Amino acid sequence: METVLSGIRPTGHLHIGNYFGAVKNFIKLQENYNSYFFIADFHSLTTHPTPKDLHDNVKNVLAEYLACGLDPEKATIYIQSDVPEIPEMYLLFNMNAYIGELERTTTFKEKVRKQPDNVNAGLLTYPVLMATDILIHRAQKVPVGKDQEQNLEMARKFAKRFNHMYGVDLFPEPQAFNFGEQLVKVPGLDGSGKMGKSEGNAIYLIDEPKVIEKKVMRAVTDSGPTQKNQEKPEPIQNLFTLMSIVSDKETYDFFNEKYNNCEIRYGDMKKQLANDIIAFTLPFREKILEIAADHDYLHKVVTMGAEKARASASKTLQEVRKAVGFRKF
Ligand code: AMP
Repeated sequence: METVLSGIRPTGHLHIGNYFGAVKNFIKLQENYNSYFFIADFHSLTTHPTPKDLHDNVKNVLAEYLACGLDPEKATIYIQSDVPEIPEMYLLFNMNAYIGELERTTTFKEKVRKQPDNVNAGLLTYPVLMATDILIHRAQKVPVGKDQEQNLEMARKFAKRFNHMYGVDLFPEPQAFNFGEQLVKVPGLDGSGKMGKSEGNAIYLIDEPKVIEKKVMRAVTDSGPTQKNQEKPEPIQNLFTLMSIVSDKETYDFFNEKYNNCEIRYGDMKKQLANDIIAFTLPFREKILEIAADHDYLHKVVTMGAEKARASASKTLQEVRKAVGFRKF
């Protein structure tokens, strides 16, 4: 069975874009792959969160992913900092990573632009830690977005370099996991192309119904169509795309026909859309609150995850130590 690995950054809450674009696919992966999902708390230290924020974010992310259906019995769900094999292997990999190639990565250059007052060494070696995350379980497949392609290329480079340098065949070259047609882009409510945390246009699974209603009713629209069957401008198309994701087909067709006949009332459409989004998110919200309050369950999940992740990681690390020449006296 092939091994798949995905890191989850502990920043903010899950929005419906995250759900349809990523989490829904993870739920499927755990059925057919030896899958690892980890919360990347070492990575998040590069931005210096306060200790309280760090812990709260890890807990939120954990509770929200579990509520969405990540199953600790099927997948290995763990917190990166619970696996001490990771920092050791990261140290060893750093010896074979060159400053020049690290400085040239676009993610690093972007960070230098975004946080010029905090260009720490962790940012520079971020691709080394990411390669470690993947290679420590010898994962073959990594579901990543376009922005992470170059870091995945680095992971392949480090895998090949290690194998070549020590004459071993320890690491497979990890490939980007392609979801093909299932890939969806959930639009924002502000007329922009994409729903996102930083865009400030997101509907979160944890949002209260009232908040969702407000957000949807505020969505950007126009003065309405003037010609039958005219093409929809982006903000209107976005509302319809959202509706196609959360509402049933009859509802979508009803409003689509109204639009095509120039009879649409955006207020009615938004009310319906808000109701359908709430019907979709409310069960998640209730589950998230229930799981987040169940300290014993969270403890059990991360303990079991750490055990399984360490078993796999320590096997690889033993081989790595042997390859580089560490011997017992
Ligand atoms: P982020 O919240 O940007 O860290 O993204 C986490 C995951 O959710 C990534 O796999 C993204 O590709 C996915 N994602 C984020 N926003 C959207 C969106 N609006 N539509 C579809 N997928 C998304």
